[in-house]
Amino acid sequence: MSNPRGKVFLVGAGPGDPGLLTLRGRDLLAIADVVLYDYLANPRLLQHASDDAELLCLGRHGQAQGKGRLIAQEEVHRLMISAAQAGKKVVRLKGGDPCVFGRLGEEVTALEQAEVDYEIVPGVTAALAASSYSGVPLTHRDHASCVAFITGRECSDKSGGKLDMAGLAQFPGTLVFYMGVTTAPDWAAELITHGKPESTPVAIIRHASLPTQTTAVTTLGEVPTVLAPGKLRPPAIIVVGDSVAAKSNIQWFTSRPLFGRRILVTRPEHQAAELIESLEELGATVLLQPAIAIREVEDFTPLDDAISRLDEFHWLVFSSANGVHAFFKRLLSTEWDRQALARTRIAVIGPATAEALAEYHLKSDIQPKEYRAEALAEELVNDAGGTAGKRYLLLRASRGREVLATTLLASRAKVEQVVVYRSEDVEVPDPEVATALEQGEIDWITVTSSAIARSLVAMFGHSLKKTKLAAISPLTAGVLSEAGYEAEIIAEDYTSEGLVEAILKSGSPKR
Ligand code: SAH
Repeated sequence: MSNPRGKVFLVGAGPGDPGLLTLRGRDLLAIADVVLYDYLANPRLLQHASDDAELLCLGRHGQAQGKGRLIAQEEVHRLMISAAQAGKKVVRLKGGDPCVFGRLGEEVTALEQAEVDYEIVPGVTAALAASSYSGVPLTHRDHASCVAFITGRECSDKSGGKLDMAGLAQFPGTLVFYMGVTTAPDWAAELITHGKPESTPVAIIRHASLPTQTTAVTTLGEVPTVLAPGKLRPPAIIVVGDSVAAKSNIQWFTSRPLFGRRILVTRPEHQAAELIESLEELGATVLLQPAIAIREVEDFTPLDDAISRLDEFHWLVFSSANGVHAFFKRLLSTEWDRQALARTRIAVIGPATAEALAEYHLKSDIQPKEYRAEALAEELVNDAGGTAGKRYLLLRASRGREVLATTLLASRAKVEQVVVYRSEDVEVPDPEVATALEQGEIDWITVTSSAIARSLVAMFGHSLKKTKLAAISPLTAGVLSEAGYEAEIIAEDYTSEGLVEAILKSGSPKR
């Protein structure tokens, strides 16, 4: 008997764009103990899985580089069944829709034979995504009242294949070929032999819904040339029929302003999501290579000591969102007196820091107009209450600038600095990122702090000349410049949004 709690969920991962996963799919990923994913399922979806879930790629990812290996279908069955029988929730993430050319029948039969419970969650199949994302309609009031989904693989069988090519040539609607790239010369020739006009329009949509999407429009007669061996690598959807002629002029997906640009984000992983999302929303392909890592301090004594005397301070001063989180994490883990913060005023360096503070239901009393330490120091010094004799607690990074402390001390304030988190350089980059940079395949690197700038210089050195640097502020650009690397652009507003805006404005042509 199988364990009653174990179950297999056959989940459609959609065509590539991680936003096209269903809500049901996302919820199941979140509770899965084991995730078995296809090479066609976007690995980005794995971010919905829990940290302790076991993740297993079933091969072919990176196979072109000789890295992947394809796991045999029987082995997939065995993996699913044994995990479910051990009481685990297994998500089998399949590219597109699991029921469309997904060998679902075999997997379901195996599960039923093993008496394992299962559920099937549909996904957006590649044909539908290819159509929506390229503007090639599959049906059309005047040209096509039906659609056929066809596997091109069956055509490679020289003994005649299983496809009724004569029937397909007469089919009164749109033909959509999956897995049809390598066999295109065969099936195109056969359709023509069986009477389909050579002039029938054809659209080839590769990497549908991904930042690398391309669409080529041709005719059936040209297909053997356009798709001659080695000319185009799968995966692609090939749409054959008169509805292709009604392709929209506006390419909403590929005409987004950053489409085709490859941008490297260098913030620590836990802080990168927002910047990544806004760049992707504009069409960019985003790579992540954190340049610094944020860690806890090794010795909490100075912070604990400051926390025990919180009511002595007139001001708490935060220079980063990381500082806010590190401080409150420690504060909330101690027995602290809520009254201790009652009269303390709080200053932050900019909007991201203020937002972090808001997560603890606190509002800052001061936030400078320009998001830099000099401006913050000036606001504090000019505050109506004055600084003389006032006590300031600066909650800072292990390496940070001294300008705040120096300015405050010069105005006769009493300043204590406590390191609340460590900021460390990431020394070795991901080899794929390093190679992409070296080969000039990265259009922009976002440089979002001075510490990041220094670390990038140490990590990549001369390769930084092979890309364009987008600096978040003049200070950050200055650090780069001192090391011999000039920022192409500097944000006017020293925030992530400001940086994205500056990249957009620079409007340089894509590679
Ligand atoms: N179950 C999947 C299909 C798997 S068969 C689905 O429903 O989409 C694999 C074929 O799907 C590929 O050869 C290609 O023809 C097509 N395909 C999958 N993802 C694609 C994509 N992003 N763009 C174009 N074609 C894709």
